[in-house]
This record gives sequence, structure tokens and C-alpha cells, in this order.
Amino acid sequence: MADLTAALRSSGDTAEVRMPFTGQVLVHLPTTAVEQVTEAAAEARIAQRAWAATDVADRAAVLLRWHDAVLDRTDELLDVIQAETGKARAHAFEEVADIANTCRYYARVAAKALSPQRRSGVFPLLTRTVQQQHPVGLVGLISPWNYPLTLGAGDAIPALVAGNAVLHKPDSQTTLTTLLARDLAIEAGLPPALWQVVVGDGGVVGPAVVDQVDQVIFTGSTPTGRLVGERAGRRLIGAELELGGKNAMIVCDDARMRAAVAGAVRGAFSSAGQLCLSIERIYVAEPVADEFCSRLVAAVHELRLGAGFDYRSDIGSLAGPAQLAKVREHVEDAVAQGATVLVGGRARPEIGPYFFEPTVLGAVPPHARCFSEETFGPVVSVYRVADDDEAVTAANDSAYGLNASVWSTSRSRARSIASRLKAGTVNINEAYAAAWGSVDAPMGGVKESGTGRRHGVAGLLSGTWSQTVATQRLWPIGERSPLRGRRFQRGMTTALRALKALHRA
Ligand code: NAP
Repeated sequence: MADLTAALRSSGDTAEVRMPFTGQVLVHLPTTAVEQVTEAAAEARIAQRAWAATDVADRAAVLLRWHDAVLDRTDELLDVIQAETGKARAHAFEEVADIANTCRYYARVAAKALSPQRRSGVFPLLTRTVQQQHPVGLVGLISPWNYPLTLGAGDAIPALVAGNAVLHKPDSQTTLTTLLARDLAIEAGLPPALWQVVVGDGGVVGPAVVDQVDQVIFTGSTPTGRLVGERAGRRLIGAELELGGKNAMIVCDDARMRAAVAGAVRGAFSSAGQLCLSIERIYVAEPVADEFCSRLVAAVHELRLGAGFDYRSDIGSLAGPAQLAKVREHVEDAVAQGATVLVGGRARPEIGPYFFEPTVLGAVPPHARCFSEETFGPVVSVYRVADDDEAVTAANDSAYGLNASVWSTSRSRARSIASRLKAGTVNINEAYAAAWGSVDAPMGGVKESGTGRRHGVAGLLSGTWSQTVATQRLWPIGERSPLRGRRFQRGMTTALRALKALHRA
């Protein structure tokens, strides 16, 4: 593979990135100085002017070629994602499939969604009103390490097809994945200057990005999201904030047990639980709780931990020492407060420095940290509930509201529970992939899980500003002889009543 870092501007300093599987150095990344962030933004803005003038169909064609390049070079992408994140290969493949899905979707819908739309005028026939969308210009992307392809390239796709340039600060831990995805986009026909990648400490390079752009898409933790939102607010630019979660799963007494257990395993342990949509709380109906718990424990015992660049392991490593420390703290704290470890609960340094067993906790008391705080690791707690009402109340009793999952053989019962849950996505008889993969539907959180919506037409239009162009014909708005004063008032009153009657008809 060519040196991916050759595309980076260098301040002379480097950031050391270690492979989670072994703890060994993977790369010394050149970092970007703040003034170089400004240079990158200026270069991107020049490229954006020409890009915005191209036909949407031509931009969509780049996405379709990018789709093919990603699928043709899957193994290379999987190697890089695994080397940087330490996740299992199957979980890395979810990211590749996701990018192909997102490219295809936006290539299909962009032209129609971005074309001018007729709107009702103030007076029928007299006012012709059209809404047009313009790209905001330069979109800032600040993305985390846990799903580096999905949450980096995945958000660049709608921004680029809408006619924008992108100034991207990926997490230093996972910059190579971004650089490879960008290389594939350039091979597919994207002008290189349009997607600028800057590297460095989030507390320095992140604010420098926010200061340069016309809109920012931030994915990461809630505390950092607040800082980004405040800074964007001071500049009066839009901020899409995709933040943390403490996602709940509800298992009703009529759920298919085998499927619910398989869903819980996938939901709680994909990418070793370092997934924003990850299930960290399971509420099980009392009559089926014993069966669910014993099946879940048995299924977790079967999971294979491993550090291989192949499909032989089910679960990979945590991303680094900070994640391992947090997971350990949450488990030790829960146990000290009286929780029971049903399975797992130990670090596995003999496999790799940051491996931790998939862990199921029972009897977690409300004052334990993992009862309400996001763990962001392979730890899930099981709680028994008397009925659907208690399950909904417990699931909603959280500062977060990102994702939820409901398991029942009655679709109407599950849908009724879903509509009572305060979560941006609810998956019925699935953990997270059904809603995430439905890229035609908006996706995002409520409460402290964020403010933005990616995916769908909403995710495309968020990178644009709308302009209303209204043309008045035949008769002007306002007083005009002989309709002046009282006559004008009477004429308008009659017109407004007629409009209401027309709407009723
Ligand atoms: P993080 O610490 O908030 O970092 C996210 C990104 O922000 C990184 O690129 C980081 O750079 C950068 N950053 C740090 N300080 C900054 C600042 N002051 N201004 C601007 N940018 C700054 O989050 P994380 O720990 O990497 O990611 C895990 C969190 O992300 C979890 O809470 C998870 O739930 C959430 N997440 C949410 C979603 C979603 O769609 N809702 C998806 C995935 C993850 P450096 O790390 O290089 O310093």
C-alpha cells in the first residue's frame, strides 16, 4: 500500500499511533499546525466553487464509482480498520458495507432532493414560489475512532454530493482509514482539494476546524459535543452533534428467546461494545428472565476473542488503554456496589494489551456508575421488569436517547412500545442495524445524545441552505388604486376567507 500519510500537511511534529492488537507502534502521523488548517480551508474553498458548478448527476456518478472502489478494495480497507481500531473483521466489514450502501443511496436521491421545488404562493396563480437549495460551502467533519470509515467517509458523502468541500479532522488513532477512503474517492473522480484531512490533538485542531467552516458535523462524546456546539453557536454556524448513548433493549414475555439472545449479543458486543448504538441495558419481562439470562450467558461463553486479521474471532480488542481503564472501572465499581458478574468481567492481556471479556452483569444498583453512565465497552446489565410499562419507564429514565431495541412476536405491541420510547431510533426484533442501515430514514439522538440528523434527505439538506424565490404576477401585493384603505381591508378579508374555504373543499 502507498504511504497514505503523504497527503498530509506537516507541522514537523508527529502523533504516535499504536495498534490495539499488540500495543506496537503502527505509524507516526504528521500533525497539522493551526495555520495549516487555515491553508487547507482556503484550498478547499477554491475547489468547492468549481465543484458546486458541476451537475449533480456528475457528482452522483463519482459516488457510484467510489461505491465500486470500496467493494473492490474491501480487504485493504478491512486490514487498515482492524489495525487502527482492533475490532473483529466482521465488525470492520459492517463499515465497508455501510459506505457502499450510503454511496448508492445518495447517488440515487441527490438530484431530485437538491432540485428546485415549487411551493404554494401567498396567492394562488398570482405568486409563483420556488425553494432552491445551495451548498453551505465548507463542511467541517470531526469524527471519532470507533467507526472510522462509517462516521468519517459516511458523513462526507452527503456533504460532497450536495456540492460542498469537506475539512475533516478524524481521530488521530484512525486517520489512516480516512486517508485510504479519501484515496479511493479520488480514484473515483473526486478533486483531491475538495476533501482536506487535518490531524492533531482534538482540543487544538478541532476548534481550528470549527473556526473555518460554514457548518460542522461532530460525532463523539457528549462533553466534547457541548464544546463544539458552543463554539459553532458563537460563529452562528449550524452544528450537527451526534453524541453518546446508554441504549436500552426490552425483551417482552412473548419474544422469541433464541433471536432475542442473538440480538443482545450482537447489540452489546459489536466492536467490543464501542458502538454508539450499543445495547448497555436489557430489561427482560420477569416470566422469561431466567431463560433469557441462562441462554445469554451460554451464548457469551461461546464467543471467541482474538487478534487476527481474519474471520476466526467474534470479538476484538478495545481501542486503547483509556477504554480498557474505563471498562475495568465500571465493572469493579458495579461489583463493589453489589452487582453480580453473570459472565466475563476480566481483562485478557494474554490475547492483547486491551482485550476485555464480553461481560453480563445482574443486580446492578442505581448508584453504580454503569447503571446510568455510558461504558462504551463490552459490558451489558440485565434488569427484570414486571410489564411493558415498567420497561418503558426504566428505558426512558436516562439522560441519553440515541437507540433502543424491542423484542416481541407481536408487531403491534412492539410498535406501541417503540412509540413511547424517547430514542431517535428504535429497532424491532433487531439491535441496531435495521434502523442504521435504513439510510433513507433520518438517524440521530434526542436529549444528551445530540441534536443532528444524518442519513435520509434530511442528512443531505443539512449541508445546504434554502432560498425562497417568489415571483409576483398580474396583481401586486399591497394597496393599489382603487383598492386602498378600508376597501383594501375588505378585499383582503374576502380573499383570506375564500382561501380558507378553498382549503376546506
Ligand atoms: P471524543 O473524545 O469526544 O472525540 C471525538 C472527536 O472530537 C475526536 O476526533 C477528538 O479528537 C475530537 N475532539 C476532542 N476535543 C475536541 C474539542 N475541544 N473540539 C473539537 N474536537 C475535539 O469522543 P470519543 O471518545 O473519541 O468517541 C466516543 C464517543 O462518541 C462515545 O460517547 C460515543 O457514544 C460517541 N459516538 C456517537 C455516535 C453517534 O452517532 N451518536 C457515533 C459514534 C460515537 P482527538 O481524539 O484526536 O483528540
